[in-house]
Amino acid sequence: MAAAGLGVAFLSAAGAAAIALNVGSGTAAAAQAQSPQAPDYAVIIRGGTVFDGTRTGRRLADVAIKGDRIVEVGTISVSATAAQVIDARGRYVTPGFIDPHSHAAPAIGTAKLAAAVPILYQGITTVMINPDGGGLADLRPQISDIQRHTPGVNVIPMIGHNGVRREVMGLVNRRPTIAEHARMEGLVKAAMDQGAFGFSSGPFFVPGKYSRTDEIVRLAKVAARYPDAFHISHIRDESSYDVGVLRAIGELIQVSREAKLPGIITHVKMLGPSVWGQSAEAITMINSARAEGLQIYADQYPYAASASELQTALLPGWAQEGGQEAITRRLQNPEQRALIRKEMAQNMARRAGPNAMLMRNYDADPSLEGMRLDEIAKRRLQDPLDTAMDMLIKGGANIVSFNMNEKDVEALMKQPWMMTCTDGSLGEFGDGGEHPRAYGAFPRKIRRYVLERKAISMAQAIHSSTGLTAEVFGIKDRGFIRPGAYADVIVFNPATIRDVATYEKPHAYSVGMDYVFVNGRAAVDHGKVVPQRFGRVLLRGR
Ligand SMILES: [Zn+2]
Repeated sequence: MAAAGLGVAFLSAAGAAAIALNVGSGTAAAAQAQSPQAPDYAVIIRGGTVFDGTRTGRRLADVAIKGDRIVEVGTISVSATAAQVIDARGRYVTPGFIDPHSHAAPAIGTAKLAAAVPILYQGITTVMINPDGGGLADLRPQISDIQRHTPGVNVIPMIGHNGVRREVMGLVNRRPTIAEHARMEGLVKAAMDQGAFGFSSGPFFVPGKYSRTDEIVRLAKVAARYPDAFHISHIRDESSYDVGVLRAIGELIQVSREAKLPGIITHVKMLGPSVWGQSAEAITMINSARAEGLQIYADQYPYAASASELQTALLPGWAQEGGQEAITRRLQNPEQRALIRKEMAQNMARRAGPNAMLMRNYDADPSLEGMRLDEIAKRRLQDPLDTAMDMLIKGGANIVSFNMNEKDVEALMKQPWMMTCTDGSLGEFGDGGEHPRAYGAFPRKIRRYVLERKAISMAQAIHSSTGLTAEVFGIKDRGFIRPGAYADVIVFNPATIRDVATYEKPHAYSVGMDYVFVNGRAAVDHGKVVPQRFGRVLLRGR
């Protein structure tokens, strides 16, 4: 968005907040007249180092909260009273983190997992769901499930291309007819009207894989009619599978140019040895698109390993068509198996070999979870390719894929257009395989990349996790510490904040968060998640 546009948006939002505050203080004054003990504020956070979510902001200040808003930032009189006063000396006070790529849904719409505990312990107060083109075409059941259970954090829905394409065309590998195209456009429009913030795509995955750029452009144009809408994409190729990572970034830029809306490369990475080092070209491409006036951004989880599935990591696209039954049939047909095997050998090399694949979930034999593909093959006296094909016949597995180079991770992280994400799912604590990012991405960025490696400054890490994200995705009145903003505020200890989850033991909460306020209420209090939930579903235009 243009700077002028943002200014206007903020002014009008601040104006609305001021009106709301006047009403609020009037009520408080009336209450005070009846009861002389009524406190001035709900919460005062005193003496903390405030990072306000802007690129450079850092100062000592008090922060006061009343209702669901921040009402004062600065020096608050020592005689002021509050229901809760927090001594934040030695602590950092920042906006709650915003995760633009979360797989918390559908779990966050269930009674069991609505609390979003691993998310809160990272200091995240807002998550954006349906990334990678995912989710269903009709958002209404998802939204109502999440609202009904009151989520622990704020939730922002997006509308996914793959969900829309699956609804209209199933999993077929062809271009849409004119009528199918019109139906897909109608579904995107309906979802935006229902409150989606923007359009997500995932042309790496079936069925988005079978789309061409013009299909994505046309659907992105529907989203672009709405203010502050965007296109966020798990790009077609993060490696050298078909078009290659650089051309895939080029495709995302082209969508922004033609559909005239911001484009975000989600969990940007240089996947596999064949593209290591290409972050330099990627950065140049993104910077020149930005110089052209396009709004191109990226987000990233701070790990050198991704999470994937055996199927998408290894099987060629044509062999994935039609779903599991079709895959099994092809792998059991000797001729097709030989063809698939040949292409899988190349894909295995792209993923840095069988030692670089660790099983997270394998329903057919959970005893293999936590083992690497080469280990399993050795135990079975098999070639790893045959082991992988046998596992694919039995439904496939979720994997951790060690495929990135730390130099690319850091080079990308340093860019002013880089945001933080988790790409994490929300599961039951201790249950099943997981990538540690689901528990640790945001604290890890601070611990490892700010405090230990000094790759970026603390202010940049906070900005890339808060204010920048709020601006890019048009999330009004969040992502910043300032009067009138929603009180999504966290207080953490810079000496102790860290991720605890590892690849081998991923189920471990992050530590260091003393307080996490969601809409003005302490969801983490004295370092512990409370039983009540304070999140909201945030919908466009509401
Ligand atoms: Zn993805």
